[in-house]
Amino acid sequence: MNEENIIYTIGHKSPDTDTVCSAIAYAEYLKSKGKDVVPARCGEINLETKYVLEYFGVDCPINLESIKDKKVILVDYNEASQSSEGLEDAKIMGVIDHHKIGFSSSEPVNFEIKPYGATATIIAEKMLEDKSFEITKPVAGILISSILSDTVVFKSTTTTDKDIEVVNELNKIANIEDIKKFGIEIKKKKSSLIGLSPEKIIYSDFKNFDVNDIKFGIGQIEVVDLSEAREMRNSLLEKLEEISQKDNLLFTILMVTDIINEGSELLFSKNYSSIEKVFNKQIIDNTVYIEKMMSRKKDLVPLIMNQLENK
Ligand code: MN
Ligand code: MN
Repeated sequence: MNEENIIYTIGHKSPDTDTVCSAIAYAEYLKSKGKDVVPARCGEINLETKYVLEYFGVDCPINLESIKDKKVILVDYNEASQSSEGLEDAKIMGVIDHHKIGFSSSEPVNFEIKPYGATATIIAEKMLEDKSFEITKPVAGILISSILSDTVVFKSTTTTDKDIEVVNELNKIANIEDIKKFGIEIKKKKSSLIGLSPEKIIYSDFKNFDVNDIKFGIGQIEVVDLSEAREMRNSLLEKLEEISQKDNLLFTILMVTDIINEGSELLFSKNYSSIEKVFNKQIIDNTVYIEKMMSRKKDLVPLIMNQLENK
């Protein structure tokens, strides 16, 4: 491969299963079209992703902390704040994502956003429609895993009919016996908080947002019960405060999502008064539980954005 021609498919930092596996799968697809594509990631993979890659026998992508002067296709994100270093000096060859648009560029870019439950669904749809492409069993497996992960086994409000349809199609190749059971199995891999520091927990899936020059951050963890997080509440709150100050954020939230009972406990750093009223529920000791709240992207971020935009 000629180094200069290499295109890297790369996802967001604090990588999750969708961002890592979408990069791998999309690289496979583009390679079949004769392109020199190498999948990459930004940062350490989590235990869930590790399990998925090992389960299907797929190599972990290379870690690219900087994409300066590289040709890249961004998968599963389009906001600079969620990128590897050097995005402003990278050549962006494309974007494929399922998040709100937070992207600007000086040149036209192949830009594909669909409101599906996972980026993997967009990629799988492309592959399934393309009769000249043969989806291998490992690729089908990691795409299914990504969709199950992002949609919280179809429980998240972000789930679309397309996600379910695509998983069923892909499973004709992957042959996973019980999809829902497998989904819970993979979610459990990163749901235990035992032995993890507050910092590790908060940063395991953390995103920065920016509206009207107000910056805030939200971490999310998914658990099978809330007790471990509740035991660590004080140290988590302390760390949230520390992160807010260090990163110059107005406030920081940790969303602890209970995937079995379908709701989220939100922990706030001190400075949350500007968004307090969107929850229609009293925040006590910097904590509130919201039933049915599953998705940061669809259930939480829009509430906060609307409030801060209309200030
Ligand atoms: Mn993601
Ligand atoms: Mn995703």
